[in-house]
Amino acid sequence: MTNSTPARDDSLRERLRGSVRGELVEPGDPDYDEARKVYNALHDKRPAIVVRAVDAGDVMATVGFARERGLTLAVRGGSHSVSGYGTCDDGVVLDLGRMRGIRVDPGTRTARVEGGCTWADVNHATHAFGLATTGGIVSTTGVGGLTTGGGMGYLARRCGLVCDNLTSVDLVTADGSFLTCTDEQNSDLMWAVRGGGGNFGVVTSFVYRLHPIADILGGPTFFPLDGDVIRRYRELIAEGDERLGALLIVGLGTPVPFLPERWHGRPLCGVIACWTGPKDEDDRVRDRVAALGPVLGRMVERLPYPMINTLFDDLVPAGLFQYWKGAFTEGLPDGAIDAFIEYGATTPSIQSVTAVFPIDGACHRVGPEDTAFSYRDADYSIALSPALTTREECEAQKAWVGAYHRALEPYSMAGAYVNFVDSDDQDRVQANYRGNLARLTEVKRHYDPGNLFRLNHNIAP
Ligand code: FAD
Repeated sequence: MTNSTPARDDSLRERLRGSVRGELVEPGDPDYDEARKVYNALHDKRPAIVVRAVDAGDVMATVGFARERGLTLAVRGGSHSVSGYGTCDDGVVLDLGRMRGIRVDPGTRTARVEGGCTWADVNHATHAFGLATTGGIVSTTGVGGLTTGGGMGYLARRCGLVCDNLTSVDLVTADGSFLTCTDEQNSDLMWAVRGGGGNFGVVTSFVYRLHPIADILGGPTFFPLDGDVIRRYRELIAEGDERLGALLIVGLGTPVPFLPERWHGRPLCGVIACWTGPKDEDDRVRDRVAALGPVLGRMVERLPYPMINTLFDDLVPAGLFQYWKGAFTEGLPDGAIDAFIEYGATTPSIQSVTAVFPIDGACHRVGPEDTAFSYRDADYSIALSPALTTREECEAQKAWVGAYHRALEPYSMAGAYVNFVDSDDQDRVQANYRGNLARLTEVKRHYDPGNLFRLNHNIAP
C-alpha cells in the first residue's frame, strides 16, 4: 500500500467470505480495476471491496455488513448512473450484475426480473413471448436505477412510465430484512420505490406488467436543426396518438450510411419513432414524421421491439466522460425550442445529445401522489447529456451544459427527473419530489433511519 492509498481493512474479504457466495474483489486483485469501473468514466473511485452478489442472501449479508461496520455502501445495478452512484471510495460496492435471471409468465403477462438485469436482458426475454414493457432507450442501461427513478422510454405514452408497470418488488432494507412489496403488502415501500430512487433498499427482483407488443415501426428521421421542425414535432405529439413513441433528439449528425456524409458532425435534429400501432398504418406514420421538415436521411423500418432500444448502444459505450442536466416542461415552449437551436448548434461531440422524451398519455393517467414520481403534469422530460472522450473535455463542457440548462430554466418546471441530473443537483431534491417529499421522508425515516442508502438523489431521513 502506498502512502496515497486510503487505509483499508484487510479483513473485509475474510469477514464476508462465510456469508457471501459471490465473488469478492479487493484492491490488488487482478480484476480489481475492472470491478471498480462504472459506465461514466468521470467517476474513478477506489472501493475497499466489490461484492459481486449472486442471490438475495448475498445482498442481505452485504447490506448487514456495511451497516454494522459503518461503511459507505454503493449499490450497482447496470452501472449507468451519470452521477456515479454505483461506486464509492473506500466503502463497499454491492454489484448486482451477476443477478440477471428473468422469468416471463405469459399467462399473467408479467415478468420477474432480477435486480442486476439490463434492458437488453428484459427485452430479449419478453420478446420471445411477443410481449414488452416500457424500458430505457439504451439496452445496456440497468433496470435497477432506471425503474426506481421512474423510468421513461419509447412505450411510455402508451404503457406508462417503467414504475407504472411495476407490480411488485423484493427488497432488502437497511436492517437486512427481505420484504416483498405490492400495493397490498408493505405498500408504503411499494409506493416509494416507484420513483423514489435507491433510497429505500436494494431491489433483488422487480415484477413488471407486460403488453402485447412484438414488432414495431421504428428508427430515426433526421432534419436540419430548425425551430419550425421542432414546432411541427410538438404538433405531432399534441395529436395525442399514444401508440407513437417519438423521441426528439438534437445533436450532431452521426456517421451512419443513411445520412449523407456532408451532414456527419453537423448540427441537426431528429425524431426516433417507435410506432406500436397496426402495420397497415406504417406508411402513413412514416410520411407523417417525414412531413416535419426536409428529410436529410432516415431509416424507419419494421423492427423487433428489442432492436429499437439498441440504436444508441454503439454511440454511447461505457468509458465516456458524462455530465448531465435535466428538465421537465409543460408543452414545449417556444423559449425551450430557441434554447435547443442555440445550444444544439454548439453540441460538443457526436456522442452528446439533447434527448426530449414525451411523457404524456398513460403517464398522465396516474395521479401525482399515486407514486413517488410526481411530475404527472409534465409533457416532456429533457436530458442534456454531453459525453466526451476525455476528462478535460468533459470538465470544459460543464459550463456549456450549465448555460444550456439556465437558458431552459424560464421555460421549465421547478424540478427534474432524478435520473437525468448530476450529483451537484442534490439541493433540488425538494423540487424533484415536490408534494411527495414529506411522505418519502417518512418512509425513509422508518426503513433507513441511519441513511445507509445515501448514494442516490438522497431523501435525508
Ligand atoms: P446504477 O449506476 O447501477 O445505479 C444507479 C442508482 O440506482 C444507484 O443509486 C443505486 O443505488 C440504484 N440502484 C441500482 N440498482 C438498484 C436495485 N436493484 N435496487 C435498488 N437501487 C438500485 N433513463 C430513463 O428513464 N430512460 C432512458 O431511456 C435512459 N437512457 C439512458 C441512457 C444512458 C446511456 C444512460 C447513461 C442513462 C440513461 N437513463 C435513462 C438514466 C438512467 O435511468 C440512470 O442512469 C439509472 O441510474 C441507470 O440505472 P443503472 O441500474 O444502470 O445504474
